[in-house]
Amino acid sequence: MLNLNSNIKYIKGVGEKRAGLFGSLAIFDVDALIHFFPRKYEDWTNTKTVRELQNGDCASIRATMITPVKEHMIRKGMTLYKCRFSDGESIINVTIFNNKYQAQALRVYEDYVLFGKVEKNLTSASMSSPKIEKLDTGVRVHPIYPATGKLTSNAIAKVVKTALESLEEIPETLDKSVRDKYKLISLDRAIRQIHFPDSDEDMQKARYRLIFEELLTLQLGLLKLKGRNKTETNLKITADFTEEFKSLLPFEMTNAQQRAIKDCLSDMAGDYPMSRLLQGDVGSGKTAVAAGLCYSVIKNGYQCALMAPTEILAVQHYEGLSKMLSPAGINVRLLTGSTKAKEKREIKALLMDGEIDLLIGTHAIIQNDVEFKSLGLVITDEQHRFGVKQRTALAEKGEGIHTLVMSATPIPRTLGLILYGDLDISILDELPPGRQEIRTDVVDSRYHQRLYKFIRDAADRGEQAYIVCPAIEENEDSTDLKSAEQYAEELSEGAFRGYNLGLLHGKMKPKEKENVMKAFSSGDVQILVATTVVEVGVDVPNATIMVIENAERFGLSQLHQLRGRIGRGSKKSFCVLVSDSKSENSRNRLAVMKNNSNGFKIADEDLKARGPGDFFGERQHGLPALRIADMLQDMETLHLAQQCAGEILAEDSNLDLPKNKHLCDNISKMFREVSYS
Ligand code: ADP
Ligand code: MG
Repeated sequence: MLNLNSNIKYIKGVGEKRAGLFGSLAIFDVDALIHFFPRKYEDWTNTKTVRELQNGDCASIRATMITPVKEHMIRKGMTLYKCRFSDGESIINVTIFNNKYQAQALRVYEDYVLFGKVEKNLTSASMSSPKIEKLDTGVRVHPIYPATGKLTSNAIAKVVKTALESLEEIPETLDKSVRDKYKLISLDRAIRQIHFPDSDEDMQKARYRLIFEELLTLQLGLLKLKGRNKTETNLKITADFTEEFKSLLPFEMTNAQQRAIKDCLSDMAGDYPMSRLLQGDVGSGKTAVAAGLCYSVIKNGYQCALMAPTEILAVQHYEGLSKMLSPAGINVRLLTGSTKAKEKREIKALLMDGEIDLLIGTHAIIQNDVEFKSLGLVITDEQHRFGVKQRTALAEKGEGIHTLVMSATPIPRTLGLILYGDLDISILDELPPGRQEIRTDVVDSRYHQRLYKFIRDAADRGEQAYIVCPAIEENEDSTDLKSAEQYAEELSEGAFRGYNLGLLHGKMKPKEKENVMKAFSSGDVQILVATTVVEVGVDVPNATIMVIENAERFGLSQLHQLRGRIGRGSKKSFCVLVSDSKSENSRNRLAVMKNNSNGFKIADEDLKARGPGDFFGERQHGLPALRIADMLQDMETLHLAQQCAGEILAEDSNLDLPKNKHLCDNISKMFREVSYS
């Protein structure tokens, strides 16, 4: 007998070798196996006779095999197996290509069900490589699993079937009252039916149960993260120094910026630590909000930390903020991976003495050996590069410390509520005045020569340009795609001979990347050829041109982020999207970019056009991967799960009750699997 923890190699027919193949799908035990759900289904229940079908129809046919298999060796490596079936009225000629195993398993005069495309002419019908199963087991809804090279969907189905047959009742994870209220079938039935449904309706019920449970677990997990901050804090920021801070700024804050600062200060004056997300489009001025908060917190006698996802961004923040805050007597220091050991020691000592007021850096600043005397506020910039996990690590740096995360990723509001279910949200919905609109054009590659001249002219005036190429997957050998490397080489010998060209891509070492970015920041590099690694946050106001090659390959939100790298200074900026795609969908999407400058608007359009994959597929937000639920399509179930999560926590805020133990297990399992890419 198997149980959920049994290693899958003990399932009949698996063994070491197959277990290895399952291992590459991260399936090691029976529990993981039965949670590896079909991607879709084939319904074989509605069987037809040949007479009822048109040429080219795909269907399942009940048929008896009437001639033995004949083998035809066509050439080396290509053998055909031919035989005939009858559905009682018509003969079906079946050809099987190369699959000796399938052919040898067939027995003449046995009843089968054939599934596939039927080719019909006036005199006969035929099927090429149909799927064939015995009649008594074949007429059902068949699961189709995401197959890998060596592990076919069929092979997976067999193993799952064997496992389910030798598994006793799967223990229930949801309390009866919850199941009754939300009309959920038992876990045991759901798991069995999701793999081998008796009918479409049964499959839907199974899906609903499993999706509900997954979303409930996600929601409870996030609410628990939020609840963690519901222990009281004595780090109270009671005095507001914002007026004083304003005199340090070379500009007037926008209303949105002032509102965000107010939100945060009122959080920090309360009994509980702040846990807030500051969301604002690229260029909306999040840094000034961060600076203003640090100013008040420091004047209240606490230290602050500001964490950026890359060294170059950390350096940039350091340069900007120390210039702004030092005149007010605030001691700002920078700590990154490349800070020298001696300086690092000095910084750590000064932090412990409370001599440093604001520490800026990369994730180096949340490492264990960095201790503060009285840390009050931690700010994380460009949050989408950090996951829930890092958020938690930060919060654990000290009891009751206030946290603010800043993100430019425009997430459609409904999704934001889920992704950041553990945070309160402030939104900067207003750009600073006097921003120049970026002009965006869509062109095809015939325009390249003119484009290069346009860039040379700008460079001659002392301005700079980005040229972005899509990152190319290793297994992709599309001829019309240029790798950044290859393209940079071409350009430096051709169109931009005599200009200073830089190259930046994801496979370079961090140090090399920093050096190139520094050279671009300082103006030494005039034209930067890059992959999307330039997407995040860097501020080079002198860059006025952004060319994006094969623009159709990017998500709209990503294009928007990229475009946000220009238009940051006083000079007119231009974004040129180069695409030869003829597809109507691509043309429409690029037109959205041309006609919109608002990130939220663009995100909504992107969501409509591409579905949530962009937000969840790439796991930009460090949320746990979902196995079966789809945040958008299952929005209704999500609302029910949210309601249910609220009810459960209202009764048992820590999930201490025995009946909620399974939920706790589910949560730790799900959040253990969070990816931090
Ligand atoms: P982001 O929100 O993308 O991080 P930044 O904080 O980098 O934006 O700000 C973008 C630019 O706008 C900076 O050069 C900053 O000095 C400037 N800025 C910020 N707030 C204002 C404001 N209220 N008025 C004018 N310029 C501002
Ligand atoms: Mg920023």
